[in-house]
Amino acid sequence: MYDIQKIREDFPILSRTVYDKPLVYFDNGATTQKPRLVVDSLVDEYYSVNANVHRGVHYLSQQATELHEASRETVREFINAGSINEIIFTRGTTESINLLVSSFGEEFMEEGDEVIVSVMEHHSNIVPWQLLAARKGIAIKVIPMNDKGELLLDEYEKLFSERTKIVSVTHVSNVLGTVNPVKAMIATAHAHGVPLLVDAAQSIPHMKVDVQELDADFLVFSGHKVYGPTGVGVLYGKEEWLDRLPPYQGGGEMIQHVSFEKTVFNELPFKFEAGTPDYIGTTGLAKALDYITALGLDQIAAYEHELTVYATQRLKEIPGMRIFGEAAEKGAVISFLVGDIHHFDMGTLLDRLGIAVRTGHHCAQPLMQRLGIEGTVRASLALYNTKEEIDALIAGIERVNKMF
Ligand code: PLP
Repeated sequence: MYDIQKIREDFPILSRTVYDKPLVYFDNGATTQKPRLVVDSLVDEYYSVNANVHRGVHYLSQQATELHEASRETVREFINAGSINEIIFTRGTTESINLLVSSFGEEFMEEGDEVIVSVMEHHSNIVPWQLLAARKGIAIKVIPMNDKGELLLDEYEKLFSERTKIVSVTHVSNVLGTVNPVKAMIATAHAHGVPLLVDAAQSIPHMKVDVQELDADFLVFSGHKVYGPTGVGVLYGKEEWLDRLPPYQGGGEMIQHVSFEKTVFNELPFKFEAGTPDYIGTTGLAKALDYITALGLDQIAAYEHELTVYATQRLKEIPGMRIFGEAAEKGAVISFLVGDIHHFDMGTLLDRLGIAVRTGHHCAQPLMQRLGIEGTVRASLALYNTKEEIDALIAGIERVNKMF
């Protein structure tokens, strides 16, 4: 039983008002709201357990370490990784990608080598590769898409060459909602002898993601997009790859022994975790993952699908509506423009009605160029949204439409 009213009560912010209107929050792709038990866990840990992890012999430090390492196990189980050594805590998707690009690029890429990305990547899966290109002279190849927003898999195949060293693609587009067939894309990459990084920032909150089932080499996501706290994220990597990669940052925690002559790095996963980790944040993340596991990812996916179908159908009834992204496999993200109303105007006016949507290029300017537009209005849904909120959005758009 998916008891939406009870679920909404778990998220205190949902009962606030904005400009004296009930808040309707449709900016979940940017960040999700937090259930009470996540925020409570942060407060509780600061008040009753706080101590730096891994270094102390004292009681609190040991307790904090146990909580932190238990969170790693929760993440491992959540994505079905083979070992906790494969779970690296970072600050978020962006840092996870930068870590991987830096370490992988350092060890395995030379001038003239190639990475394959797709046209629908977030800037965080483009710019780190461009920085590497500037440092090392690597080339970036781009998988194109059709007008529905589906990647062209035949073209993907053709992009592989002797110089391809890695593929890095998003699981779900944060603009189009397209669910890319990453399992098949991983198989193709492996057939060419190269690993694939999955940017799961927009899939982890909405569907079951099993790294072993996908056979993903690397997979990254952010805690704050999956009902967890800000400032914590994950890089999953197969142990056989992580073992071969050099550290990203140096400092405490990531070493076994330091002398001025020679430093021995720590084992996995600590080799990649320099400095004090956000051990309070990792507990919050684990609570968030436990929360959605208890609700059931299949139930969440089914509920969000129903909402997305309903929203799409209602939006299409609005005169002048253009929806961007109509892939056969599509998640809970709807990008649109209405007539020639500027996306900022639409977003600003909806905001006055208490409706939070995102406007702009959504950190995907190359995709905007492909679509021939500057930006869109984006409603991205979460497990706590309702049909009534979609009705409010539709009424809001109709009102703005009349004003123009
Ligand atoms: N990748 C995708 C697909 C995203 O949607 C986002 C954020 O919107 C990111 C990466 C970056 O995530 P973060 O800002 O949490 O590092």
